[in-house]
This record gives sequence, C-alpha cells and structure tokens, in this order.
Amino acid sequence: MSTCDVLVIGAGPAGLYAAYYAGFRGFSVTVLDVLEEPGGQISAMYPEKDIFDVAGFPAIKGRDLVDGLVAQAAQFNPTYVLGQMATTLVSNTDDVTVITDLGTQITAKVVIITGGIGSFTPRPLPTGSEYAGRGLVYFVPRLEEHRDKDVVIIGGGDSAFDWAVSLHGIARSIALVHRRENFRAHAGTVDRVKALGIELITNSEVTAVSGDPHITGITIANKDGVSRELPCQTLVAALGFIANIGPITEWGLELDKRHIVVDTAMRTNIPRVFAAGDIATFTGKVALISVGFGEAALAVNNAVPFIDPSQGVFPGHSSGGAE
Ligand SMILES: Cc1cc2nc3c(=O)[nH]c(=O)nc-3n(C[C@H](O)[C@H](O)[C@H](O)COP(=O)(O)OP(=O)(O)OC[C@H]3O[C@@H](n4cnc5c(N)ncnc54)[C@H](O)[C@@H]3O)c2cc1C
Repeated sequence: MSTCDVLVIGAGPAGLYAAYYAGFRGFSVTVLDVLEEPGGQISAMYPEKDIFDVAGFPAIKGRDLVDGLVAQAAQFNPTYVLGQMATTLVSNTDDVTVITDLGTQITAKVVIITGGIGSFTPRPLPTGSEYAGRGLVYFVPRLEEHRDKDVVIIGGGDSAFDWAVSLHGIARSIALVHRRENFRAHAGTVDRVKALGIELITNSEVTAVSGDPHITGITIANKDGVSRELPCQTLVAALGFIANIGPITEWGLELDKRHIVVDTAMRTNIPRVFAAGDIATFTGKVALISVGFGEAALAVNNAVPFIDPSQGVFPGHSSGGAE
C-alpha cells in the first residue's frame, strides 16, 4: 500500500508527460502501467518509426520520444509500478484508491487516467506460443538482442514490415511469413522491404516450432500443404494486439463507447479523477500525441486545487519568463 499526490494510470506519452507536469508542480507521482516498459502504443507498436507531428521535432523516432519523456519526468523522481493492471478504483471524500490485479493499493489525492486504447495484449501465435521468452517475441524493443540471429517475422501488417526494416543489417537473415497473398502494410514499406531483399513468403503458416529450450527452427506450410523448414532463433509474432479498456468501464465513469467523457478541464464525472490522451473524449477530440500532451498539462493544472488549494491552476511559465 502506498500514497502519493497524483496517480497516473497509463505510461504512454500522455501519462509520462502528466508525470513530468505533476512533478513540475511540486507533487509526488506514481505511474502505473500493465506493460513492463513505459511508452504505451509507441513502445509496443512503433518504437522504430519516425513520428513527424510532435511539436518541436521535424522527425523523431518513437523510442527517442519515449526516452525523452521518461528523462523529462525523471527530474522529479516519479515512482513506476509496471506490469500491473489497475482493476479497481474507489472514490473517497479526500482521495482516490486504486487497486491492481496483483493487489497493490495506491491512494492518491488525484488520479489521472491516461489509459489510451486500454491495456493491450498481443494476439498469440496459434502454433508455438509456449516458446514465449525462449525465442518467441511479440515486440522488438531492443534490436541489438537479435544481432546475428536468423529472424522470422509472422504477419502482414505495418508492425511486421517495420520490424523487418529495423532488423535489416542487424539480424543474420530475415524472412517474413504471411498467411495471405496480400499485405495490409503501407505499400511504401512493402516496397522498401522488397528492395532490401528480405524474403517474403506468402500463403503460408507456421505448423511447428522446434528447439529445446530455445527456438532453433520453424516449419511452415503453404496452402497446398508443401512444408519448408526455416532456421530461426528469433520468431517475431506481429499479429496485432487485442485492446481492452476492461476494468476501467466498471469504475462508474461516464463513457462514450470506449472513451471517458471529460469536460474542458479534463475532469471526469468522478471527483478527483481526470482523464487525458487517447482515452479521453470531448467534442472535437483528435487522438494524437500532440493533443494528449496538451490534455495532460490541462489535467494536472486543473487538478492542482484538489491537492494544494493554496496554488492556482496556472503554473506560471517554466522558463520563469513571466515571474
Ligand atoms: C502504428 C501507430 C502509429 C502512430 N503514429 C502516430 C503519429 O505519427 N502521430 C501521432 O500523434 N500519433 C500516432 N499514433 C497514435 C499515438 O500512438 C497515440 O495517440 C498515443 O500513443 C496515445 O497516447 P496515450 O498516452 O493517450 O495512450 P497509450 O499510448 O495507448 O498508452 C496507454 C497506456 O495505458 C496502459 N493501460 C491501459 N489501461 C490500463 C490499466 N487498466 N492499468 C494499467 N495500465 C493501463 C496501457 O498499457 C498503455 O501503456 C500512432 C499509433 C499507432 C498504433
């Protein structure tokens, strides 16, 4: 059991920026996320992609943006509780208590929900899922771990093709296996992968995974039943994610489909509970990183009077220029 001024649920870009902002306003912060790494959708789905629409950066790699957000928040030493899902929220008169699936209990003066599209789990690989942690991966957050390995990527979407591009020149060999003829990925990325000479194997599925304890090879079969063995020490299952807003729907929040309705101060219908980022909705909402940053700042600043009534909503200028 722990206490803090501000509990941020969700360590995506909006949550990390909220953590920084709450620290900047002088409050203690805990950041809770079900994923083991901060960064939300960026870390899980496109750490190697360039992002072009974050203010101040003509282009920034997803991973670098997350690293920068973590470093910015680190100035104020937030506490991270990772690998745990917020399952219960209880609103009290002077604070809010959140309990996780592992039984951790955190009581905060204010909660900011930055849960994005919910907690997401990767779609499992139908064959070989027991090799998770022994060569089978669903994300590729650290490319260097796959240096000089034979990598097989399963999937036909953007993530599959992005991983193929990112691992080119690092992995010893790369093959991309897709069960259909056509790919869902952006045509430009498909062309890039083809130009790099990465082997694309279509109309084929994994029928067996071998190796003990670590994967050493896989067997695939095409739709005519013709089998082929591929050397493989890293098997990347890029089959997409199942997003689940899950427990958040049971907290008594006003929802609009899978989003939490907020007012212009990012307040939800529950006192002391705010929301920001993709999970928050209001008239004119646009779900983008840049918008989430602004909402996070709004949520924290409007939460201030609940934490310290002697402070105003406006923080002054961080540069000190308007003091
Ligand atoms: C492939 C792709 C490319 C994109 N490109 C761009 C782009 O170029 N520009 C742009 O602006 N946007 C882009 N986006 C969208 C952008 O990533 C999102 O708008 C942004 O990540 C939203 O940030 P967030 O912090 O609100 O939520 P998220 O990034 O979704 O983070 C939410 C976090 O909350 C956690 N969480 C949820 N529920 C719980 C719970 N109950 N307990 C604990 N943790 C929980 C999740 O695990 C997650 O880590 C892209 C998205 C994708 C998928």
